[in-house]
Amino acid sequence: MFVSVIVDISLERDRNTFTYAVTEELLEMISIGSCVLVPFGKGGRTVKGYVTAVSEETDIPKEKIKYVLSMADKDTGVTGTLIRLAERINKKYGCSMALAMKTVIPVSRKVKEKERHSYILGISDYEASLMMTKLARDKRSNVKLRALKAIAENPGIDRKMLGDIYGVGISSIKALLNDGLIKEVTEKTSRDPVFSLEKKDPVEDLTPLQKSIAKKILDNRDRVHLIHGVTGSGKTEIYIALIKEVIKEERQVIMLVPEIALITQIYSRLYAVFRGRITVINSRMSEGERYDQYLKIKNKEADIVIGPRTALFMPFEDLGLIIMDEEHSPSYKSENVPRYDAHMAALFRKEEEGATVVLGSATPSVESYYKCITGEYMLHSLKERAVMGSSLPDVEIVDLREELRTGNKKIFSRRLSEEIEKSLKKGSQVMLFLNRRGFSGCISCRSCGHVIKCPHCDISLTAHNDGTIKCHYCGYEERLPAKCPKCGSKYIGTFGTGTQKVEYLIKKEFPGAKVLRLDKDTTGRKNSLDETIAAFRDGRGDILIGTQMIANGHDFPNVSLVGILAADLSLYSNDYMAEERTFQLLTQVAGRAGRKDSKGRVIIQTYDPSNYAVVTAAEQDYESFFQKEISFRKALKYPPAGHMLLILVESAAEEKAEEAAKMIFSSIASKKMPNVAAIGPSPANLSRGKDVYRRTIYVKSSEEEILESLMDDVISSSSKGPFRDIHISFDTDPVTSY
Ligand code: ADP
Ligand code: ZN
Ligand code: ZN
Repeated sequence: MFVSVIVDISLERDRNTFTYAVTEELLEMISIGSCVLVPFGKGGRTVKGYVTAVSEETDIPKEKIKYVLSMADKDTGVTGTLIRLAERINKKYGCSMALAMKTVIPVSRKVKEKERHSYILGISDYEASLMMTKLARDKRSNVKLRALKAIAENPGIDRKMLGDIYGVGISSIKALLNDGLIKEVTEKTSRDPVFSLEKKDPVEDLTPLQKSIAKKILDNRDRVHLIHGVTGSGKTEIYIALIKEVIKEERQVIMLVPEIALITQIYSRLYAVFRGRITVINSRMSEGERYDQYLKIKNKEADIVIGPRTALFMPFEDLGLIIMDEEHSPSYKSENVPRYDAHMAALFRKEEEGATVVLGSATPSVESYYKCITGEYMLHSLKERAVMGSSLPDVEIVDLREELRTGNKKIFSRRLSEEIEKSLKKGSQVMLFLNRRGFSGCISCRSCGHVIKCPHCDISLTAHNDGTIKCHYCGYEERLPAKCPKCGSKYIGTFGTGTQKVEYLIKKEFPGAKVLRLDKDTTGRKNSLDETIAAFRDGRGDILIGTQMIANGHDFPNVSLVGILAADLSLYSNDYMAEERTFQLLTQVAGRAGRKDSKGRVIIQTYDPSNYAVVTAAEQDYESFFQKEISFRKALKYPPAGHMLLILVESAAEEKAEEAAKMIFSSIASKKMPNVAAIGPSPANLSRGKDVYRRTIYVKSSEEEILESLMDDVISSSSKGPFRDIHISFDTDPVTSY
């Protein structure tokens, strides 16, 4: 017998597998996914490898074949399905097989068990409540109070949970220990990374609509389902009902969320029903923690895993259901090579393991919705909020051009200032959202809202230091105009405001308000994101200012006003998804307002009030948005109406990047393939690292396979002479700008 083995996964360039012979005694133990030791290279040094195929014959001459030495004792959790998934990723996303393997391997080494420190009260509940009242009087005891409360409510909570969820550090814990208020319990045990945050009991009964959707899904398990339901419409309750059915049959569930910050929320909902059968995986975890979670799954102690896209690589013996909540989120696509899409991986496991796939969103991706329209997926709609009395917010669009015309140059319109004032008086909370997805390099007119776009690609042009504006798809360029080509105004240029500046201005205008800010700068520390969110939810802040981080899924019951400061900023992002992102962000942010029993208000400020993404978002009218958007995609053959491949060429030497990009481009163009359009090469938007020059080439085709074979050609020719010192990577159907 012979096996194909992928050798030493650190060999990044290598796409090939090697064939080895297997002795009788090893054969019994070997299967696809096994980790083996093999001799490799001229010196025959021993390296690790993964078995990707087993076969009876080989074309390779006998005398050249070496034998597999032994099984490696390492437990990687790689299954046959995961190896085949790696192969698919390798093919579709154009990375090395080694890197694809690294991507799908759930754990990479065994880790020693760690001690767990957990805490219980050292005093009676009554004494604790007296103590808490006392601590509450002193602002400086804020953290101590939080810690004591957390421990009283969750006896046995451990150090990590206190830190991750409640923002309590070791010094506060020590202080409580010294005062004898709490006791420490130390045990050797598995690391449990999440503790129930808020207790929320499951609902008694599903509504008739929820029931019928759940039934339709269970009756059509071999299909992919999309639940299109506004925020608060009861999607999560449907997920819970489906999970119940699936684990009753002793099959397992993967529950995906786009961001780590959303894990605790869904965890507490599921925990109320499924208790310890849940495990969590996330990229912030240590290897030890990940390994424990993996073991729980392997030992069948857990049958539900919650996590971001990497949770898709957890090995389950009988996977029954994959749920992707907030399926539209760009976080489901990896930003690193291989830039795989979690949708693809979920569909792959569905095909291989017979799992049902359920996607859910208030603003489905154009791609998934399109697949519903074409009949590939089944669509289920929930148009109303689930709880009686909670209704969708009133949405108002404020025209910033009008504000400018009447002399208000501030970033808050008069309407928004008025409403902030009102909310603060009422004692309810305000969220201000600054859309930063766009690039400040895009050119727009503040008088008429006009955005300058490429005449060929219909995406925004970007300003360069040399006074030109360029298209990042095709390289088209023109001079930066001094006046707006549409209305003649001189207020044309690049615009952008930071959240910090907004915070400063808000504090100036509303000196009495307590302002919290949430963006990349403030969430650098590991726990500060959860901390700020918890603080705002607990009412320890009147106004929360944030970027897209506040857009998704968080539930803030006391928010009555949401202000969107510059709705059109993401329209200026220079890629074909600008409108989709804008629509999604606006709709999601608007959904934050008024969730309990009061109707919320949303104010959208914009320079482009007639843009269809803004208008349809204000009306929460997904279908109209989709119709407009899909006709644009079809006209220009952008995904999902076709496929698009990005070839990214990077080098420390600008001429080399340029030369290589030109060579690749002309080799594709010279093939004159029908059904293929190459555009570029063009300088990329941002040079990520210092002194790295980047060129992009985009290739459009209706056939995925054509793009895959083009990728193969580029890879094989790029290992030769002129391409040394050049780094080439790919993105298939990109969802971000390069
Ligand atoms: P989504 O996931 O769509 O945002 P959720 O499932 O979180 O919606 O539901 C929103 C709110 O409505 C939650 O507080 C939930 O408990 C409540 N809810 C959902 N379905 C029902 C139901 N059938 N009966 C009572 N309350 C419900
Ligand atoms: Zn203008
Ligand atoms: Zn162009």
